Amino acid sequence: MHELTLAERAIAMAEEVARRAGARCITRVRLGIGALAHVDADTLIYCCGLVARETLAEGAEIVAERIAGEAWCATCKQAVELSRVGNACPHCGGFELEVVAGDEMQILDISVASR
Ligand SMILES: [Zn+2]
Repeated sequence: MHELTLAERAIAMAEEVARRAGARCITRVRLGIGALAHVDADTLIYCCGLVARETLAEGAEIVAERIAGEAWCATCKQAVELSRVGNACPHCGGFELEVVAGDEMQILDISVASR
């Protein structure tokens, strides 16, 4: 499952950050999910909970926030907001769009406890 792979990556990244910070455990992970990423936030949160078992992130609160998609419009010559792949440019109605942001998942920040 796509979400499970992303969850494994997210927890691994969070653990690495926490270790570098000398933290004992992770209390909260805030994920940013691009609107164009084809990721189901609820499924991702559930998978993170599974993957986090017996890691520093066990029991951590997982929060997912939606990040707007952005595309470069070749007609308007500017970046425009895109809520879904396949949508037209909101300014000119054209389809010469190239996605530049919002098609990925990232960790926005994590909260850790040192003891
Ligand atoms: Zn346009």
